[in-house]
Amino acid sequence: MNDVPLHHVWQYTDVDRAFWREHLEDWLPGRIFDAHTHVNEPEYRIEEMTEQRRRQYWVNEVGEPIGAAAAQRCFQTVFPGREFSCLAFGHPSLEYDIEAGNAALQAECVRRGWYRLAVVRPQWSAERLARELDLPRVLGVKVYYAMIGHDATSRDKYLEADIFDFLPHLPLELLDQRHAWLTLHVPKADRLGHPRNISQIKQIRREYPNIVVVIAHLGRSYTMPHARESLPQLADDEGLYFDNSAVLNPDVHRYALETLGPARILFGTDNPIFYMRGRRQWHGRTYVNRTDYPFHFNSRREPPEVESRYTLFMYEALRAIRRACDELGLSRSQVEAIFHGNADRLICKAG
Ligand SMILES: [Zn+2]
Repeated sequence: MNDVPLHHVWQYTDVDRAFWREHLEDWLPGRIFDAHTHVNEPEYRIEEMTEQRRRQYWVNEVGEPIGAAAAQRCFQTVFPGREFSCLAFGHPSLEYDIEAGNAALQAECVRRGWYRLAVVRPQWSAERLARELDLPRVLGVKVYYAMIGHDATSRDKYLEADIFDFLPHLPLELLDQRHAWLTLHVPKADRLGHPRNISQIKQIRREYPNIVVVIAHLGRSYTMPHARESLPQLADDEGLYFDNSAVLNPDVHRYALETLGPARILFGTDNPIFYMRGRRQWHGRTYVNRTDYPFHFNSRREPPEVESRYTLFMYEALRAIRRACDELGLSRSQVEAIFHGNADRLICKAG
């Protein structure tokens, strides 16, 4: 047992080392760029996580904030011997002091050579937004429907909002002038395939063509039905990008690579959440997260001999990406594009 503390309740264990050696070490490129990672100094959480909210939603139980120093230590642990950089942003939530979180991460990005997206509110003036975009190592913005307003009792009060409700035209104009990067987590229970999401993304691409638009989590396509309903509708737009963070399903990775091509997909982890140990199972349009920690959501445990073989969710995601790339016979340079080349190109555009 050589367990090393990772984050929250998670350790890095011999199971993970063996998994790395067996599935990832010889395959992952020498340079890794994580295009979707959350870094937030824990002291800037201004609202305490309550027992009631932990029971509401699994991410509330696993989504403990990670500061920059701890994040760097974790990257070095999970990617041994790799050159690593990332595009980091805080938790887009009004439970955090957004201004303080942005400012702290700004200094850390300069110090560590990372890039940053500013977490922004739709109510901000153009001047306020411009001040963020003027800072070094800031590529653009992370927007989210929960930034419209705060409701401590529900995370989904604004789930059905339109994209333009949390990303109005005023900031879009400025982002377009600046050729800035926009990571967009789409709203609505129907996910990316909702007709209003599709039409508004097309409208943004048409009216603001200089923005580097990256749709987060393959449009929240965690299951095959969600991927099939949405990705083909955006396949024609060669200038529209996606990050594959938080997607564990190998079939979805393969389908996204086939539909969009490897030049439009950026590797991302969605850490620190994906330091969770376990695996995910899919049933139609839903999924179940299996893990070995007694969280409220983890009520249907697997047998101990199965749990003892669990590795990190992010390693499961990497194996799924590898499987998809292998099945499609992608070249080394196409694999490298996913893990850093596409990001390099977009950073040049947005930086
Ligand atoms: Zn995220």
